[in-house]
Amino acid sequence: MDLKIIKSEKRLCTCCMEEHEVQTVLVKEEATFKNKKITYEASYLYCNIAKELYMDEQQMQENDIHLKDAYRKSEGLLTSSDICAIRAKFGISQSDLCILLGWGRKTITRYESHQVQDKAHDTILKKIDQDPEWFLLLLNDSRENLSPGSFQKYLNTAAALYEEDRDAYLRKSIEADYARFQRNQLFHGNTNLSLDKVVDVIRYFAASTKITALYKVKLMKLMWYADTLSYKLRGFAITGLVYQALPMGAVPIGHNSIINLKDVPCEEVDIGETNAYHFSLKGVTTFSFLTADDKNILDAVIEKLGKMNKNELIDFMHKEQAYIETAPREVISFKYAENLQI
Ligand SMILES: [Zn+2]
Repeated sequence: MDLKIIKSEKRLCTCCMEEHEVQTVLVKEEATFKNKKITYEASYLYCNIAKELYMDEQQMQENDIHLKDAYRKSEGLLTSSDICAIRAKFGISQSDLCILLGWGRKTITRYESHQVQDKAHDTILKKIDQDPEWFLLLLNDSRENLSPGSFQKYLNTAAALYEEDRDAYLRKSIEADYARFQRNQLFHGNTNLSLDKVVDVIRYFAASTKITALYKVKLMKLMWYADTLSYKLRGFAITGLVYQALPMGAVPIGHNSIINLKDVPCEEVDIGETNAYHFSLKGVTTFSFLTADDKNILDAVIEKLGKMNKNELIDFMHKEQAYIETAPREVISFKYAENLQI
């Protein structure tokens, strides 16, 4: 018999009713569940006096779960611990999750123990796992039936998950936009795109007290100057962004998505007939993705250009060889960095 000893302790053996060393063992078992032959590991106690395997109450329940989990795995269903983990991710209780899903109060409790969920319920649980936005919708619909404290707690957790999810998706789509430039060192300044650095560069500028009125156009220019100065001084850019020559100067590919990245301190403000994006970061801040050298370069850019207003900066940029030599809407090559005006 295939038998693995996992524990041995002196205790009352309920098999022979003597106190002696009793082993806990794992045995590979075969059983039929819902017409399917299932192999799983069952846990037993072993009496070496009676030479007999037996189970206590707790093992009986656990073995039952092991059998059903093995069946679930073979059917591609979530196991009881998978279901438990989904619930833990959202920090929601068994009964409250039932309220959200409109299921009987004990349904989840049963799925986390002895009862195998049907395919339809399994699909719903998988969807909840992957879609925090849907969780938020269900949560709002169930608001009346939850305590205010629980509602708020679930809302905070799911909103944070949703935010992370959205950010991961946004990052993927920006990275996909950049895939086509990967081989051209002169387009991305000899650096692989790092969105972590991009976010930190924006935060660094936004936190600076030496930059006046930081709106999007100005920010985009400062980023180009930072990457180009870095390339001029060190032979590689800071962020790996690829810049295009637009009428108002250099703008990175994917700029609209970039300012939507998580942790970018961007605020939409009304100015007359249109909206503008303003960047500002207050309080104590750290920039864990920037090196000391990166920061020195950003400081040099801030020193030279921070106080220029938008139009002065656009005029200044228009005098750059990099801008003059690049056709409208084309990608600006880093080869012009040596002639940068700063
Ligand atoms: Zn015994």
